[in-house]
Amino acid sequence: MAHTYDPENIFAKILRGELPNKTVLETAHTLAFHDIYPQAPVHVLVIPKGPYVSYDHFAAAATDAEVLDYTRTIAKVCEMLEVGEKGFRLISNAGELGVQEVPHLHVHILSGRPLGRMLNPPA
Ligand code: AMP
Repeated sequence: MAHTYDPENIFAKILRGELPNKTVLETAHTLAFHDIYPQAPVHVLVIPKGPYVSYDHFAAAATDAEVLDYTRTIAKVCEMLEVGEKGFRLISNAGELGVQEVPHLHVHILSGRPLGRMLNPPA
């Protein structure tokens, strides 16, 4: 599948410093920041700095250094947020069926309240 990256997406603007963000952690290849519309007491987004649209795009095309940094940063952020003991959810939406709003890879880290079942029942 072709993954065409739109450099005008909101997270690209955050990475270029054109929009502000509430940073949790920044590393060489990764940025973690608070979601602007939190859906739980803990709602943090973790994005790679490279131009990747979705998780499958990143996992296939990113360098080993980027993949390692991204994965380890997610671990560090979970530790900083202290979500490991009580539990949390990682979500990465992709494409139209996944209802992805921002076409730059992000995982949501959600915690701080019971999160319900993984998917809503079908409408
Ligand atoms: P998704 O539907 O998985 O693409 O999620 C996109 C997320 O980005 C949503 O949870 C939005 O609340 C969040 N979001 C959109 N704009 C910003 C922003 N400027 N800063 C932080 N989070 C944002």
